[in-house]
Amino acid sequence: MRIFILLTVLIATLSARDLVPEHWIENVPATNNSIQTSLVFQTVAGVAAAAGSCQLGMVAAPATFSPSSLSSAEETVSVGAVLGSATADVDLRFSNGSAQSLSWPVGIKVMKRRVLRVAVYKVTEDGLGGVNNTPDLIPEEEDLKNYLNSQVFGPQLNLTLDLDIVDDNLLLDWKPSNDEYGYFEVGNPDTNSPDQQMTIDAVVDQTTGKLPADIVVFLIGANTMLDRDKVGVTNQLARVCWVYGDVHDGGAADPDPYTSVEKVKRTIAHEIGHILVGYGHPDKAENPGPAELPGTNWKARLMVSGLYGGPNAGVQFVKGEWDAAEVELKKIQPTVNP
Ligand SMILES: [Zn+2]
Repeated sequence: MRIFILLTVLIATLSARDLVPEHWIENVPATNNSIQTSLVFQTVAGVAAAAGSCQLGMVAAPATFSPSSLSSAEETVSVGAVLGSATADVDLRFSNGSAQSLSWPVGIKVMKRRVLRVAVYKVTEDGLGGVNNTPDLIPEEEDLKNYLNSQVFGPQLNLTLDLDIVDDNLLLDWKPSNDEYGYFEVGNPDTNSPDQQMTIDAVVDQTTGKLPADIVVFLIGANTMLDRDKVGVTNQLARVCWVYGDVHDGGAADPDPYTSVEKVKRTIAHEIGHILVGYGHPDKAENPGPAELPGTNWKARLMVSGLYGGPNAGVQFVKGEWDAAEVELKKIQPTVNP
C-alpha cells in the first residue's frame, strides 16, 4: 500500500529565548505524492536564522521527513509515511535539542491510496428539425486523466481515477419531457429530473440496475446550457454528474466565456469534487460546504462557485474537504483497491 501525506505548511516565528516555533499560519496543501514543501523561518528582531543557527527536529509518526531536521532559513522537506500505515491525522512536533515544541501547529493527514472507475459519456442532443447537437468541447482521454490524477485528486486525496471516455455518443431526445425550449432540465440535489434520469437509464445495467462505473459523467451537447444557466450539476447520492460540453460565449460582457476544453476539464473536476466533498461552495454563505474558511482566498479552491471561480481559479482542496472526501471514499466501494 502506498501512503500519501497532506501537509499543512507554515510560517514559524522563532523566539529569541529557545528557538522553538511559537506561531504558525498558512495552509498550503502539497502538490506531490512525496510532498515537497517549504518551511519558511522568520525571526524576531535580533535573532538570525542563517544556516546552522538552529536545528529543529521533526516528529510525527508514522510520517517521515527528509531531511529529518531543519537548519536553514528556508527549507524544502519531503514527507512520506511508514509503509502500511493506517489513515490518520497526526500532529507534527518540533524539537530543539531535548526541548519539544509546546504547541503542535502542523497537522499531517495520512490517506490510503484509492482508485475509482469513472465513465464519461458524450451525450448528443437529438435536435429539432433533425439537427443534432454533439458536444464540441471534448477533452482527450489521456489529457483529462492526467489533469484529474496529476493536478487535482492524486496529489491532494491520494485518489486515482481510472477514467474511460466511451467512444460512441449517446443520442437522446429530452425535449418531449420538457418545455418548448428543449433545454436540459436538472432537478434538485439528490433528485433527478426526467432529463437526467433519461441519461442514467441509457447506461444503467438493465439486469442489475447498476451504473457502469463508480462515478459517471455525462458531457451534454446542446444549444443551451444545462437548465439554461449552468455548466455543471451533480447528484452526489447517485454519484453522477452532468457537464455542459458545448461552447457558451456571452460576448464582450461575459467575463468568463465557456469556450475551451480546459474549462470543461475543470468543470468535470469540480463536479466530481461535489461527489466527494458534498454540494456546498465556500463562497456561498447559505451552503459553504465542509470548509468555508472566511477571509481566505476562495478563488484558489476547486469548490469555489462560478461567482468567484472564473478565469484562473485554482483546484485546491483544504483539510475540511480532505476529511469529507475520506468519509465519502469509505462509502464508495472501490472496484479496484490496491
Ligand atoms: Zn458547484
